[in-house]
Amino acid sequence: MAAHSPARTRLLSVLSILAALLLWGGWADAAAAEDVLDPPSLCHAVSQTVAQPMATPPAITCKGEAQGYQFGSVWLRADLHRHNVDPHDLVLKVHSSRFDRLEVAFVYADGRTIYQHVRAGDFGTHWRTGGQIAFEAPVRDAPVRYVTMRFDRLASVNLLRMRLLSRGEAAIQSTALSICVTAALTLLLIGAVYNTSLAVSLRRQFPVWQAAWAGSVLLWGVIWSQLGLLIVPEMAGTFSSQICTALSCLAVTFAASSAVTALDGPELPRPARWFTLGLGGFVSFLGLPLALMRSGPIDAAALALGIAILTLLACVAGCLAFAWRRGSIEARTFAGAWSIPILTLGGVEFVDTKTIFWGGGSQLLILFAAAWQTIWLAVAASKTHANLRIEHDRARQAEAQAHELARRDPLTGLRNRRGFIEAVAPMLELAQSGSSPAALLLLDIDMFKRINDTHGHDAGDMVLATIARRIERWEGPMCKVSRLGGEEFALMTTGMTGFALEQFAESVRLGIAACDHHEAIGTGTVTVSIGIAEAGRDSSFRELYRLADEALYRAKRLGRDRVMFQGHGQPPAMDGMQMSTLH
Ligand code: GH3
Ligand code: MG
Ligand code: MG
Repeated sequence: MAAHSPARTRLLSVLSILAALLLWGGWADAAAAEDVLDPPSLCHAVSQTVAQPMATPPAITCKGEAQGYQFGSVWLRADLHRHNVDPHDLVLKVHSSRFDRLEVAFVYADGRTIYQHVRAGDFGTHWRTGGQIAFEAPVRDAPVRYVTMRFDRLASVNLLRMRLLSRGEAAIQSTALSICVTAALTLLLIGAVYNTSLAVSLRRQFPVWQAAWAGSVLLWGVIWSQLGLLIVPEMAGTFSSQICTALSCLAVTFAASSAVTALDGPELPRPARWFTLGLGGFVSFLGLPLALMRSGPIDAAALALGIAILTLLACVAGCLAFAWRRGSIEARTFAGAWSIPILTLGGVEFVDTKTIFWGGGSQLLILFAAAWQTIWLAVAASKTHANLRIEHDRARQAEAQAHELARRDPLTGLRNRRGFIEAVAPMLELAQSGSSPAALLLLDIDMFKRINDTHGHDAGDMVLATIARRIERWEGPMCKVSRLGGEEFALMTTGMTGFALEQFAESVRLGIAACDHHEAIGTGTVTVSIGIAEAGRDSSFRELYRLADEALYRAKRLGRDRVMFQGHGQPPAMDGMQMSTLH
């Protein structure tokens, strides 16, 4: 795997410390001051139909498991003699809400019974963050002897989780759980929002699935933790629990989809991708009946769903491993992000973690694992995005440099012919539209071959460079300069005509003749001949060049070191009449 950046290492350290604290806090506390009830092993009584409130249970038996209660009532009795809790300071916490009504009876040693109850759609003041319902035994002189929980239309005794603990412990746990749930939900919210924005900016499919996964886990977390009851208290009970089941299956499907759609290169064979996506869909499909079930073989359906989820996780892990071995970069990133949720989701299927972490159990673990995954992926995707942008900027920079280099002469640094033609195009357009006159000055060094022959090619180059530096000084908004090739230079002027243009050309000739070439050729001057052509309404660069070249040719013929003027469109026969020899 690529070396971790310091920011990623820091994030990892913080998350690891958080996880360690959570583990320590959750397990240490759980062991210290609470007693976990095992519902199937409690003494029980069953009524085939729903009993009246506060009704006396039929004969309670301590043998076997409760059966046939899904359409009636089931009483579960915890005998406090058998539990390691203070009977004067007692709170019962129930972590299940798939029932119509739950009535708790605290039976005191003096024979008095105090009833408390919640029902679907109304948990009153009994609900606690972290998917729990708390019942506090009123403090009396007499100790509590029994706690009897009566569930009406309970989905499954086996899925019930209940704990007995002291008031102090219950308060601490509720606070700790609230903090953890809020932290995990906040992280998920950030992850969901961030992934949505990534999906928009990257225009790729997997952040959409990723955002859907984070969003569905977030919604699941809000409903499971019962924080949603702050807004819609009527959701309490079976309805919430059904939504949670459906959402958790949907979340697993989204997560699997995000992983396999990210591996969209040739690194993953199509059948593997489609099989995993299909299995993901199947998990959601399987979750639906389980969510709707109020009775029947709920335990068997939950087991089937567990197996389907484990198979899906194994498939995703297999896809990631396969693509990783084939060199997929996405697979590496996803493996890092997915390792924690896969281990968590897989782990909670095997280990009963439901009562640890102050009763937040597996749900809290899953919330943090999901937050880990979304944030890891968001960070990785942003890094990739940033790298892409940097590469893109570099490529554009290189392209601009190449563009510029292709338009520059390497010896003198002046524009070459291509660059010159592009640079003077606006000037020519102005001339063609009649807005501003333009003229081309073609300069050719006189007897340059002799310089090369006498002083060598390097000296010739130095002369060219010195003249280029001098010519460069005329560069400006009114004049563009270039080396067209060999010992030939060109200037295009705008806004000058007639006498002013002649004066300018003359100053150019004199300026170049005044250059110091001492270093290259010792004493002696280097002169240029100049041919001028003025642009007319319909002159192209090619036409202008031809006319300027003709004028230059005549300057050479008449003895060099002079400026010759050629007006646009004048016939060569009239040359003698039109020439203005300023020398
Ligand atoms: P004229 O006055 O008629 O223009 O004579 P000339 O010698 O300047 O013209 P000619 O076309 O006969 O020679 C131009 C010479 O310029 C020939 C070529 O070797 C030389 N030359 C062209 N490009 C370069 C260059 O980049 N460096 C050097 N040192 N010489 C060059
Ligand atoms: Mg020449
Ligand atoms: Mg020459």
